[in-house]
Amino acid sequence: MRVLILGAGFGGLELATTLSEAGGGDAFDVTVIDRGDAFVFGYSKLDVMFGRTTLDEVRLPYSAISKPGVRILQETITAIDPEALRVTTDAGSHEADALVVALGADYDYEATPGLLDANEFYSVHGANELAHVLPTFTEGRALVGVCGAPYKCPPAPSECALLLHDYLTERGVRDACEITIVTPFGKPIPPSPDASEALLTAFSDAGIGFHGGSPIVSIDNGRGVAVSGDGTEYPFDLFLGVPRHHAPAVVLESGMAEEGYISVASATLESKFPGVYAVGDVATVGVPKAGIFAEGAARIVAQALIHRQKHGDAPGAYDGKGACYIEFGQGRVGRVDIDFLSGPNKTGTLMPPSDALVTEKVHFGASRRARWGFEPAGAAAG
Ligand SMILES: Cc1cc2nc3c(=O)[nH]c(=O)nc-3n(C[C@H](O)[C@H](O)[C@H](O)COP(=O)(O)OP(=O)(O)OC[C@H]3O[C@@H](n4cnc5c(N)ncnc54)[C@H](O)[C@@H]3O)c2cc1C
Repeated sequence: MRVLILGAGFGGLELATTLSEAGGGDAFDVTVIDRGDAFVFGYSKLDVMFGRTTLDEVRLPYSAISKPGVRILQETITAIDPEALRVTTDAGSHEADALVVALGADYDYEATPGLLDANEFYSVHGANELAHVLPTFTEGRALVGVCGAPYKCPPAPSECALLLHDYLTERGVRDACEITIVTPFGKPIPPSPDASEALLTAFSDAGIGFHGGSPIVSIDNGRGVAVSGDGTEYPFDLFLGVPRHHAPAVVLESGMAEEGYISVASATLESKFPGVYAVGDVATVGVPKAGIFAEGAARIVAQALIHRQKHGDAPGAYDGKGACYIEFGQGRVGRVDIDFLSGPNKTGTLMPPSDALVTEKVHFGASRRARWGFEPAGAAAG
């Protein structure tokens, strides 16, 4: 079976790995296409911006991956024909027996006037820029501003504010600075009342202001003012933005998107086009946009393709469960366990910060790096 995976991010890498293990080069001929030459974990952007590591350290080049039956091409996808299962790139065209769209979510900088001239920490480039800007910030008002929902990794703006508190404290300038978060949601993590409560307590302890309920809709860099949807003006000296998200343009132009993202059956991740699946941030499944959900969805699609090709076990239904780690500052890591699909209510249960969760988060990254082929399996222990 020729499987074409669009995007070598969280979802694409997990899918390629699982298919390779199940019969790469034999049952499956897998082609993964990505415009980039390296993967970067989302949470590494926070580490880079606060100078805990460098971009070179966290870039994971695709050239390291060598898996049976898998080839990774660095090409930019310019058109998707979901009826013909055909994809056009800047280098040619590709056809498949199964097509899996795992292109993530892009940022719509122009949707928020002024954002292009301010700082954002959601792209690799933006986080790396901030690594140079933050050392120059010694006094004034820092504003963590979310410009729209949905956005990737709902805890990340809270983590950014708490880590900024630590960063400024360590440099001895915290008393000369204010930190404020503005977000579209009324609570830091709406489906998890206990995680929201714990974060609000952490903000209060750290002297961080929280204003929920309306996104930032415009930024006047000249005046140093960001305006939220309800008309409130927030003065700032340093803006740390979360851009509005949308599906990549090539997806929007393909006719696959409905209400902004690709609509799929939540149990199977199959789109309305037979043989075409979508996983991760590019899909609308009713789960948050986070890597752990992209990975879980990719495993279900892998099961479906293995079943189709090798007549093995029937695939289970995607359960929408996943765990997100939350940096609470001062080296503390908590976890929120999300379950949005299996019961009548969306639930998010907080595991409070502990040393065990610090270790678990390290293992989370290391185990994926090893599994996806970025480093030898033995390295996962570290
Ligand atoms: C600050 C921050 C912290 C985060 N922390 C966490 C965390 O702790 N845990 C967690 O689970 N998630 C976290 N996330 C979210 C996580 O990074 C994403 O949700 C996850 O990467 C989504 O996986 P995906 O496979 O859907 O898409 P992605 O991983 O974004 O991959 C999509 C790929 O498609 C490629 N692509 C897009 N368009 C094209 C095109 N036209 N042609 C070719 N290639 C293209 C891109 O280059 C990219 O490699 C965080 C995100 C941020 C920003």
